Amino acid sequence: MSSDAKKSRGIGTMGAAAVLTAVLLSIVQVKVTRPMLLAERFLAGAGWVEIALLSAYAGWMTSRVLDVRKSALWRRRLWGLFSLVFFLQLAIGLAGIERFLMTGALHIPVPAMIVAGPVYRGSGLFMPILFTITVVIVGPAWCSYLCYIGAWDSGLAHLRKRPMALPKWRRWSRVAILALVVCVALVLRWVGLHGTIAAGFGIVFGFVGVAIMVMWSRKTGSMTHCLSYCPMGWIATVMGKLSPFRVRIAIGCDHCGACTHFCRYDALSMDDIRKRRPGWSCTLCGDCFRACHGKFLEYRVFGLRGDRARSVFIVVVVALHATFLGVARI
Ligand code: SF4
Ligand code: SF4
Repeated sequence: MSSDAKKSRGIGTMGAAAVLTAVLLSIVQVKVTRPMLLAERFLAGAGWVEIALLSAYAGWMTSRVLDVRKSALWRRRLWGLFSLVFFLQLAIGLAGIERFLMTGALHIPVPAMIVAGPVYRGSGLFMPILFTITVVIVGPAWCSYLCYIGAWDSGLAHLRKRPMALPKWRRWSRVAILALVVCVALVLRWVGLHGTIAAGFGIVFGFVGVAIMVMWSRKTGSMTHCLSYCPMGWIATVMGKLSPFRVRIAIGCDHCGACTHFCRYDALSMDDIRKRRPGWSCTLCGDCFRACHGKFLEYRVFGLRGDRARSVFIVVVVALHATFLGVARI
């Protein structure tokens, strides 16, 4: 492809991300009665300005992530930015400015509570529905682009230059933890334990997760918290099979193994490479693409592959990120 054609495709991709962001946020602005965009909460009509700014941001961010040599860096930056904004709003909300909170009714910012909360309360399906819709669209990329806690695990894992393979039992540890979380939530509900004490269980669960990141992810360089502890990561992987996006290794791969060291999700063992598909724990992050001398690693979606499929994936995931940036708060 000529450089002019590449340039115009890049501009088209940026425009698509901006338009998709504008559409998603406009739906929220028009359809949700309580103002969801922060600017709208302070000044009627200002939500539209925020939508314009976030759409422009999505277009710009798309141009950054599209550059395959730098996409891993920009993925981490956009992910970290979202986590920062998310927790900053929570801190300001807790400090007393409730407009920074979603509803004023606090929840615990631990992903496992997306499941445990509704099981304990017997109501409150907003987060499970949002999670399900997102995962059906972008699959396990929830865990590599959008989750407010996963960004922490990534930050600590990146303190080590190269990731290590994780023990095989980690494949089942999240299933066991999911079962445990659901059972505990059911028992707490059954005995009628007060919400504050139940919240304590959630907070302890969150702190154990942080300890795992600090003590284990930092050491292994792999996303150990997400791959061995967080039940939502397992659910995102299973339900993510409903998403049309896949990462595959094209014919021509000579099994050099260079990509293995770029995968923090323990999904590119030599066995996986021989099968020409990343392992089960792949989160579609795309960090391995730059490692391949022959561009054999690629996204696939609806019959598209290579650069076209990658553009579609980036448009969708960046637009979701920009939308979350505008509306996701607790
Ligand atoms: S595994 Fe859990 S904490 Fe990690 S990114 Fe996924 S949902 Fe977030
Ligand atoms: S195989 Fe590639 S796309 Fe999948 S998680 Fe590993 S680095 Fe990311």
